[in-house]
Amino acid sequence: MTCDELVAALVDFLGGELVIEVRETVEVHIRGCARCEAYVATYTHTTRLTRALPRCGAIPPDVEARLRKALEAEMGGE
Ligand SMILES: [Zn+2]
Repeated sequence: MTCDELVAALVDFLGGELVIEVRETVEVHIRGCARCEAYVATYTHTTRLTRALPRCGAIPPDVEARLRKALEAEMGGE
C-alpha cells in the first residue's frame, strides 16, 4: 500500500467499513510510516472534534484560530 492509497482508504477505515484485509494493510502501513501515522492520528482527532461541535452556527474566530494552531502542531508544522 502506498501513502496515497492509505489516504484514499482512510475515510472508510475510520468509519469502520473496511474489510478486515484492507484494515490490516492500513495498520501495517501506519506502523511502518511515521507520516501516515501522524496523518491518521490528526484525522481521527479532527473527526472527533468535528463531531463534538454544534451542528449549526459558525465557529468563533478565536476557537478556529486555536483549533488551526493545534492541528498544525500535530501535523508537525506542515
Ligand atoms: Zn505512508
